[in-house]
Parts: sequence; structure tokens; C-alpha cells
Amino acid sequence: LQESKSLLTSTTSSGKIKELENDSISYFIKKKLGVWCKQPRGQWELGTIQSTSGEEASVLLSNGNVTKVAKSELLPANPYILEGTNDLVKLSYLNEPSIVHNLQLRYSKEMIYTKAGPILIALNPFKDLQIYGNDYVPACRQKFIDSPHVYAMADAAYNEMITDEVNQSIIISGESGSGKTEMGKFVIQYLAAVGGGSCGIENKILQTSCILEAFGNAKTSNNDNSSRFGKLIEMHFSAMGKICGANIQTFLFEKVICNNFLFEHNVPKRLNLRDVSDYKYLNQSDCMTIGGIDDAKKFQELTKALDAVRVCEDDQELIFKMVAAILWLGNISFLVTDSENCIEVVDDEAVTSAARLMGCSSQELMAALSTHGSQSENGTIAKRLKLQQAIDTRDAIAKFIYASLFEWLVEQLNKSLQVGKKCTGKSISILDIYGFETLQKNSFEQFCINYANERLQQHFYRHLFKLEQEDYESDGIDWTKIDFEDNQECLNLFEKKPLGLLSLLDEESNLPKASDLTFANKLKQHLDANPCFKRERGRAFCVRHYTGEVFYDTNGFLEKNRDMLSSASIQLLSSCNCELLQFFSKAFCQTQKQSNSIHTVALDSQKQSIGTKFKDQLFKLMRQLESTKPHFIRCIRPNTKQRPGIYDVDLVLQQLRCCGVPEVARISRVGYPTRITHEEFSRRYGFLLSEVNIYQDPLSISIAVLQEFNIPFEMYHFGHTKLFLRAGQIGALEDKRKLVL
Ligand code: ADP
Ligand code: MG
Repeated sequence: LQESKSLLTSTTSSGKIKELENDSISYFIKKKLGVWCKQPRGQWELGTIQSTSGEEASVLLSNGNVTKVAKSELLPANPYILEGTNDLVKLSYLNEPSIVHNLQLRYSKEMIYTKAGPILIALNPFKDLQIYGNDYVPACRQKFIDSPHVYAMADAAYNEMITDEVNQSIIISGESGSGKTEMGKFVIQYLAAVGGGSCGIENKILQTSCILEAFGNAKTSNNDNSSRFGKLIEMHFSAMGKICGANIQTFLFEKVICNNFLFEHNVPKRLNLRDVSDYKYLNQSDCMTIGGIDDAKKFQELTKALDAVRVCEDDQELIFKMVAAILWLGNISFLVTDSENCIEVVDDEAVTSAARLMGCSSQELMAALSTHGSQSENGTIAKRLKLQQAIDTRDAIAKFIYASLFEWLVEQLNKSLQVGKKCTGKSISILDIYGFETLQKNSFEQFCINYANERLQQHFYRHLFKLEQEDYESDGIDWTKIDFEDNQECLNLFEKKPLGLLSLLDEESNLPKASDLTFANKLKQHLDANPCFKRERGRAFCVRHYTGEVFYDTNGFLEKNRDMLSSASIQLLSSCNCELLQFFSKAFCQTQKQSNSIHTVALDSQKQSIGTKFKDQLFKLMRQLESTKPHFIRCIRPNTKQRPGIYDVDLVLQQLRCCGVPEVARISRVGYPTRITHEEFSRRYGFLLSEVNIYQDPLSISIAVLQEFNIPFEMYHFGHTKLFLRAGQIGALEDKRKLVL
């Protein structure tokens, strides 16, 4: 073990590691040690080398079969004693099969958490593991639990916030269905337990997820309870470490009207609603119930949560009325009346119900849905809408109301969680944001989500690699540069002005005659030189993301980016006899004014484009995160069936690659994760010296401590101001210190 381990120490660049792994393969072959053997279908099997001839090896697989493979298809396996280690950094060999195998072994024993240096990897167990109960809080607080746990990470953030007086962030990422939102709730649960005070604000914070999920989640093929928005919860603490408030920000809310929660209890009767299956916005999915979910119970929880955050009963009723109005809007139908495809609104129950709930007359609603004002020399004249225009107008109104309602609710939550003026301490922010998405067909939503992930990835890189490296270098340590791929080029592709994806999209969105095809052509014309851009046929284009190539179809890009609302619709909403609708339309007009003064070319009733709004939000988020000490949790979805006990090797591997886990583990190991100033080190451990008074300056004391306690010289480095220690070294000194104290 010692011999094989030494093959890998003191390597710095990933290229060099590869070389060494090749060297170690010849060593493994010579010693006939355990190897990973690539099988014809691509999977890796564990085996031992029996004999070799030329470039071929004969391997005894763990299932008893003997197979002949090319040496290039072999990778070193880890010694048995390292099986199932709780930190990937401890593995002697960090090749992909070893990492995936290690996680699989742990998963089979229900150990879902594993560290990869500073990152916490969490595999979704898809079942209740009973590891978040009240007894786990003190256990993690007092570090009785040795294995990695989300509570332990939350605890580390909490401690660092208090001792270092620095704001912290916990960044949770992963694919849809990997368990991010649940993980975020566990973090909040832990912080509420250790930082809860007498004012009960922690209870309110815990209740917010129920409200946000009721309005912002939907069942998808990946997740029965999929969040359709990203969120950042900032929890504020007093100097004593007690929670004193919180603030929620949401990002890129996908305007799908997604929940059936109104159809429970006695609400339908009160609001004159029919059956779920009678509403077009709900019945297209063919999914009216979700196994294991009791809608009536959920509805009760929702009203209880709304009570808890002080949304009064009148407002609650108003909220439900708005959702009911949206559902009726969706049922409004149109009749084509002439050869020009112009329409009339069918005057039925849908129109009367929607109008009544919105607080306007049926005539007013029908007029807004069937005509639009057109500027002419003689002023504005009403023109009749064509079928598709009318459908788009109707859906735009419904989506606008729903999105405004969601934003308004978040605002209400924030008011109720407001941080008191006396709160002088620091904060912990928890970010739950959709991970990278590569679907068969990628549209505007994936485009935004993947852009956000490029930004977050850069944040991650910067934190782990750049800052680390700069720290070594500024302290005068000879640190062979680690080659890591920065993704700045890809970010430029998105953000550059005027020739970047987002700017070009806005420019094209402002041209009335533009189409998705003219947009795609424009991209090809201007972006060909960027190495992260790849031209494709027709409406498609391809971006080389850090995770690989992703193909986007521009179909619908302009429409989704513009997010238009006709002036007739806005006029209608502002004239409705409904407080909320008036408030929403006023807010809309205000942002419109602001953005029109920035973007000089703007269409009638155009808001700030969705792409630009998203970019602004993202920049604000990044600024917030940059002033915090980050902690990263990577959630992994072990199977697509949402079932416990199934571990799909390829699926896991692809997700690990997406978040750079193998690379991070390598770099953390070759680095010196513990950094401490000479002053601090000498203050903390100097008194352990047998002869205390000989040395005066911190540096000499530090050297004496390291020598007296036999810390091997390859385990540390002296910088100008700091001592750099390899993983695990500080633990031994801490133990000695505890013995003395
Ligand atoms: P994401 O937010 O990443 O899309 P969710 O957090 O909504 O994923 O998790 C999806 C589902 O997986 C949850 O509804 C729950 O059933 C299950 N799940 C997630 N995390 C855990 C966990 N730690 N323990 C048990 N079940 C979990
Ligand atoms: Mg989620």
C-alpha cells in the first residue's frame, strides 16, 4: 500500500496524474494487483491481473471469469482497506471507476453522504433514512457523528459565521430530482434548531417552503415535486448566533400553472369551481393525482403556513380567487368568423366566471381578448385579432397574473420575515438552483438555466482553484500551476456586448419582423469566431459548455424572451375592480418605464426582456455570493425511477463529471487545505512545547512545534505569513491540545 501510494504523491497537474496512472498500471501489472477492467459494453469490472503478453493482459474478474484485455483498458483499483472511504480524497487512485464504485458501496449501506475534499456529495436515497431527527442535531453539533452529514456542513457554516464574522453561503446544485430542495430544507432545519430563539421566526422560515412549493412546484417526469424556480434564502443571525430574520429571492420562475391544490376541501364550492379535469390548463397533463400525496392535507398545511406568515384570511381568499380566475381564463375559447382567420370570443361560462373573479365585465374581458389597438394617422384604431394572437393574448394574461401572484407572495413572506434593526450579526445564504440541463430538445429555459450554471461553475472554480492558488503564490510558496479549465470564454459567448448571445437575442427581439430563424442566422453571422459556439443547420445552434456540447433549438426564443403583454391587456387589468390586479398592473407599468428608458428601441408594452432580467438577477446573486465563504453540496440522482436502492453507474458518473468532482478531489489532495497564520498557529499550539520560553517569534515557535511532534516535512510548507498544512495534520495537534487542556 505504502509503495503504491507514493506513486501518486507530489503530483500537481492533472496531466501529470494521468502519466503516473499509466506508470502505476505497469507497476500493478508487475505486482498483479487489483485493477478496473473495461468491459465491451463500457462498464468497469474489478479483477486481478494473472499474466501479460505484449499489450494484452489476462484478468481474473471478480465473477470468476478470465478475460483478455488491452492494457490500455485497465485502471488501478484501490486497496481493500480504502473501500467505502468517507472522503474521496483519501483514495489512492482517483479514477472514475474507483470514485463511482466507492459511492455505490456507500449507497448500498445507506450512507448517502461522501466528501470530496471540501465538497459534500449527497445521493438521493428516495426513502426516509431517519437521520434528521432531533437527536441528530446535538450529535452533529458536538461532532459525535464521524461520517459526513448535511447537518455537519451546516454546522461548519454556522461556526465559521460566528468565529470569523464572515457571511456564509451553502450552494446546492444538481440535476432535477437529485434532492436539492430537500437538502436545503435540512440545512434550514438544522440552523433553526441551533439558532432558534424566543421570537419564533425560525418556525416562519420553515413554513415558507410549503407556500413556495404550493405555487411554484409541479410534477415532471424527473420529479413529482419539481421546483420551477431557483431560490436564495438568506438567514440572518444576531451576534449571539440567534436567528433574527430572513429574506427570500427567487429566480426565473417558469410560468406554468401547475398545481391542483385548489380542488380540495371546500374551496371548489366557494369559488364555483368544477372538477380538475374540466380545466384546460390542468387536464392536458393527464395527471390529476400523485401517488402518496394527500391533496386535502397539503391544502390544510398551506393555509396553516399562510396563517403562520401572517397572510390574512381576506388575502388568502384573494389569492385563491386569482388562481381560479386563471383556470377559467384557460377555458375561454374562440370562434373563427371570417376568411382572414379573425376571431370572436365564445361568450360562455368561462368568460363570465373569469370576468367575475377578476372584477370586470364580460364585455371588457372579451374586448381585450379579441382586439388590439393599432396606431394610425387618425389615432388608435381597434383591430381584430387572429386565432393564434388571441390564444397568445389569453395565455399571456394568465401567465402574467400567475407570475405576479408568485412574486407578490414572496414579497409577503419577506415582509413577515423582515430582519429587525437590532440584528447586527451575519448571515448564511442557502442557494437551491436548478442544475445543468441537457434534454433532447433544448429551448430558452435550458438556455437560461445552463447560462446560470456556467456562472456558478466559475464561482466554484474561482473559489477552489484560483483563490487557493493565488493564496499559495502570494505567500511565496512554489506552487506548480494547476491546469484547470476556466469557462470565461463560454461566459463571454453569453454576455459580451453587443455581440454575445444575450445581446443579440434582445436586439432581434426588438425587431417586429424578426423570427427564430433570422435570430439563428444572426448568431451564425456574428459568433462563429468564438470557440464555444458551433453553427448548426437551420434554427439550431450549439454551445460548448463546461459539461460538453449542448444543442439549442431557437424555436420560441424570441417570444419567450419578449414576454409581451398587449397594452389592451394591461389596460384591462388596471381597470379591474380587484386590489391585486391593480397592484400587479401598476408594478408592471413601473418596470416597463424603467426598462424603456434604458433600452431605447422598445416595442409597445414591452417589459425588460426575460434574458436581460435573468442576467441582472444572476449578477446580483453573484455579487452577493462573492462576499460570502461558500460551502458546496452536490446532489446526485442515482436513478431515473425515483426509487430507493437502484444505482445507475452511468447516470451517476455523468453527473459527477458535470460538477467536476473527480478533478476537485485530485486537486484537494495535492494541495494544503489547512492554512493558518504563524501567529495563530504558535498561539494555539506553542504551549504544547516541552520548553516554552526558548523561542520568541511565531515562526520559530511554529517550526519547533512541527519538529517536536514529528510532523513529516512533506506535510507542510512555510509561507511568508502562513503555514500550509496537508489534510489531516491539524487533527493530530488538536488531539494533543485537548489532552493537555
Ligand atoms: P430537486 O430539488 O433536486 O429537483 P427534490 O429535493 O425535490 O429534488 O427531491 C426529489 C424527491 O426525492 C423528493 O420529493 C423526495 O421524495 C426525494 N428525496 C430527496 N432528497 C431526499 C432525502 N435526503 N431523503 C429522502 N428522500 C429524498
Ligand atoms: Mg427543487
